[in-house]
Amino acid sequence: MYDHMHRAIADRRLPPGTKLVEEGLAEIFEVSRARVRKVLQRLAHDKMVTLEPNRGAFVARPSVDEARHVFAARRVIEDAIIRAVASDVGDRAIDGLRRLNQAEHEAHEGRDPHGAIRLSGEFHLQLAAYCGNPILAGFLRELVSRSSLIIAVYETPGGPDCAFDEHQKIIDALAAGDAETAAREMRAHLEHIESRLNLTESEAAPIELGHVFAELTGD
Ligand SMILES: [Zn+2]
Repeated sequence: MYDHMHRAIADRRLPPGTKLVEEGLAEIFEVSRARVRKVLQRLAHDKMVTLEPNRGAFVARPSVDEARHVFAARRVIEDAIIRAVASDVGDRAIDGLRRLNQAEHEAHEGRDPHGAIRLSGEFHLQLAAYCGNPILAGFLRELVSRSSLIIAVYETPGGPDCAFDEHQKIIDALAAGDAETAAREMRAHLEHIESRLNLTESEAAPIELGHVFAELTGD
């Protein structure tokens, strides 16, 4: 249940501000309400869900300050990751990154926005996996999930989260063993994503929980 919920929030089938009704979730996942509460608490710990006293649980809506802090943290962590990867990258890793980037591109072209969101985050997480430091990779996993919520709230809809050609430039620099260029391209890429955010508050539309998890309820 945690994995289903986490993925639905991260790939934006459950957008920020969505009310997460305990009863409805207990029915969909066929678990007790106590179990639902545990999962919601765990998601709150990940900053994916906000628990409000007397109001219940909602998909988190990151503030403007949080948005800036998350991207500032990503610039630092992904700089360290990309330099570590560049110092010791093999052909198999490069091939894996190229395949991932191609899959993201195809998902975007094939009008599979949720798949494209997931794969664009996956590209960054795969780099983190290659850097060989599980602590950094764990930090980045949280930051990438929170970035998805930030982009959902503050970006004008339509465009891909990550530009295909920007990932391509990062991969090409890694393949050439050029750590400085790879780090510069990563920084430019993150700044580009942040620059497309419109950092003002917006309203959320209501979402039907049963619809999002239709594969579990058989609807
Ligand atoms: Zn990206």
